[in-house]
Amino acid sequence: MQTAFVLLTALVQVKTTCRFPVLFASVFALFAHSTFASSIIPLGTAEHVSASAAVFRGVVVGLECYRNAADGLIYTRTSLRVVEPLKGTFPRIVAVSHPGGTVGELTLYSGLSPMMKQGEVRLMFVVRRSDDNLTGTQGAASAVRLEYVNAQLSNDQQSLLDEVRSLTLSGQIPGEDVRDQTGFATSDLTTGLTDRGGGIGARFVQADRGEPIPYLIDADHLPTGITLTQATNAVAQAMNAWTAVTSLKFAFEGIQSFGTSADSISTSDEKLRIQLHDDYNAITATSTLGIGGQYTSATLTGAGWGEGGNVAGNEFYKSSCGFVVLERTNTTMQNLASFTEVLCHEIGHAIGMAHSSSNPSEPSVPLKQSIMYFQVHADARGASLGVYDPPVVQQAYPSNNTPPFTYSRVMDVTTASVTPNLTGINDVELRGYDLQTTNLTLLTNNAANLNGQFNKSGSIIKYIPNGFFATSARIDPAGTGYNDLIYLRYSDGTNSSPYARVRVISFNSDTLSPSDGIPDAWMITHFGNANPIIGLNHRASQDADGDQLSNLNEFRTGMTPTDSSSAQRITLVNKTNIQFQSKAYELYELHASTNLTNWVRAANPIVPLTSTGLFTGFTNTSPYMFFRVEKVR
Ligand SMILES: [Zn+2]
Repeated sequence: MQTAFVLLTALVQVKTTCRFPVLFASVFALFAHSTFASSIIPLGTAEHVSASAAVFRGVVVGLECYRNAADGLIYTRTSLRVVEPLKGTFPRIVAVSHPGGTVGELTLYSGLSPMMKQGEVRLMFVVRRSDDNLTGTQGAASAVRLEYVNAQLSNDQQSLLDEVRSLTLSGQIPGEDVRDQTGFATSDLTTGLTDRGGGIGARFVQADRGEPIPYLIDADHLPTGITLTQATNAVAQAMNAWTAVTSLKFAFEGIQSFGTSADSISTSDEKLRIQLHDDYNAITATSTLGIGGQYTSATLTGAGWGEGGNVAGNEFYKSSCGFVVLERTNTTMQNLASFTEVLCHEIGHAIGMAHSSSNPSEPSVPLKQSIMYFQVHADARGASLGVYDPPVVQQAYPSNNTPPFTYSRVMDVTTASVTPNLTGINDVELRGYDLQTTNLTLLTNNAANLNGQFNKSGSIIKYIPNGFFATSARIDPAGTGYNDLIYLRYSDGTNSSPYARVRVISFNSDTLSPSDGIPDAWMITHFGNANPIIGLNHRASQDADGDQLSNLNEFRTGMTPTDSSSAQRITLVNKTNIQFQSKAYELYELHASTNLTNWVRAANPIVPLTSTGLFTGFTNTSPYMFFRVEKVR
């Protein structure tokens, strides 16, 4: 007896909103170029550890120079991802600061400061300065570079590390809590993206398929002095700022009165809703010019795979929809450039960006000049990203190597005393797609073997039921239930697709021995008898209605074997639509050719939800073209 199972992973809709206060006045002062001097006494390792507030091994993931308003000096802030906490309590990425660096035309060199580079591994001994920033206990001597050759340290470096580990009991002795000193990465981590739970960000996945994110604008009211044309152009400019540095595309779907505040709409339609007014009072603080955020489908498989795919090693949840709500009555928003800047910032939140900084006296120029800085700049910049923004957003939407994509499948399994071994019966072909020409690798992860086994051979998944099961009720293909389940994803070596599912959704018995693959119930429905010997041309290999599809293929493709007009035909063709007879929830590709010899895919594959499939928006560039529809096994 087979068991039906409802997917255990709950779909969690999580919403984030970020608010964007108005500009606070800031005073900038110029300081004289200063030098400084000090001297140090070398310490032994034990003294070095005890004199340090915190000790850790880390990888340099970010570097930036800034001028410190307090003393006028130039400093370099180095962000290190903590890979081994030895003494103290750390954030995931910790910032340390040392005198020296270059800001504009001014360079300050300090011989006492370490010169750290992106990607280096350092053993760090740090203390707090009077301004709370962390710095090397002994300057450069407290940032020991660990050079790994074939994953091995030199004997000297290894024995130093071992000594520090024993002195700190490998993190078991308490040190200072330095979690307030968070750094930011300019490489290798999803820093700067909104944490949607467990340190995981979320992304819209349409761009992986070369498709745009649709967006709607609610323009029921506009800021005084801004016309509808200016407003819709501003939205387009704000989106263009993000598309220019990523794989993202957006498509305007029209003006619409949402009838409620955009941030309250949680429909999983993967659209952005831009509301240019706050008629429904989503914004409560008077200093807030806009809010932006998204709803996220926060699910991971047991193997830790995300529905948003994996970009360069970072797993993502899937964004299910995004929103922006703007305050229109504030005078800042009646300035078109500021209105556009706020749009660009809030759209950043809607696609997954967090604030670059929420520090009103942020010393870092890149963080402060980011479009994602928590305060509006209102300096006529409009929709302009800062240097900080592109590498951060590209962690979710890489500009030139997008993750692959694939499609979920369902299986109606034929059961018999001997499992039929026929092409297209109890098997599916899993195809991976990618915007780049990359060799893709299929990865699978069994979620359940409740009633049988999935066997993978190349890109074919074959299902072997554990027994000769009686016919079961069909589980809704639109839902998430299953008799058995396997997860799949494709990898291009760097990125992986969002995960997809292959679900067994019904068992259908065939008493014929040996089985011809066609269940009894289908035979009885169409031929009045389960026995193919009874009646004319009822065998699997025969063609009862003479439409060139064998009875077995009529079964496989969801057609009617006694109707010659039901034969997986293209039923309508024009310049923008190709309609065909389909089986719901199967996978179809559209191919085009100008010579009937060389065929190329002319559109992304589709999974029709009914017995009529429809391709739209396909490549149609030549004066004449031939098209064919392929049902993927
Ligand atoms: Zn914000």
